[in-house]
Amino acid sequence: MKKDLPRICPRCSLVYHGYSALSGADNKTEICQTCGITESLEVAALAGKGASREDIRKLLMDRLCSNPIESISAEQMRQLKKWGVQRHTWPQWMSVLAEEVGEAAQEVNKTFESGHSTLLESQHRVKLRRELIQVAAVAVTWVEQLDEETSKENNSCPGKSDEH
Ligand SMILES: [Zn+2]
Repeated sequence: MKKDLPRICPRCSLVYHGYSALSGADNKTEICQTCGITESLEVAALAGKGASREDIRKLLMDRLCSNPIESISAEQMRQLKKWGVQRHTWPQWMSVLAEEVGEAAQEVNKTFESGHSTLLESQHRVKLRRELIQVAAVAVTWVEQLDEETSKENNSCPGKSDEH
C-alpha cells in the first residue's frame, strides 16, 4: 500500500497512481485498485463455480503480465474494447501510428526540454513506456491486417487451402 511515483500495474499494464492492492495470485504482487476489485469479483465467481484454491491462484497468476510483449497484447485488447476491430487503409494506419509516435516524442521532450535530469526521467519513464507500448500495439494490429490480407490472397491460411 505504498503511495509514491506512478507505477505500472502488471495485470492491466496501465499506469496508476496512489494506493495499490495485493494480488491474490501470490499475495505480494502489487496491482492497481481497479484490478484488485476485478480480481476479487473473479475469485468470488470462480469459488461459486467450485474452483479449487490452487486453480484460482493459477488463473490469477496467468492474468499478471509484466513483460513488454504481454503489455502489447493487453494494450491491443484495450484498444479492441475501445474501438472494436480496427481495419484501416494504409494512410489511415500511418496517421494513427504517427500520432502515437508523437505522444511518445512529447514524453521525451518533457524530460529533456528543460535540461535532462534523472528525477525527470523517473517521472516520465512509465509514461514513455505506456506510449511506446501504444506505438507497438498499433504497429502489431496493422501487421495483423497485412498478414490477414496476404493469407487471403495466397489462400495460405492453414486449413483453408483444402476447402477450395
Ligand atoms: Zn491494473
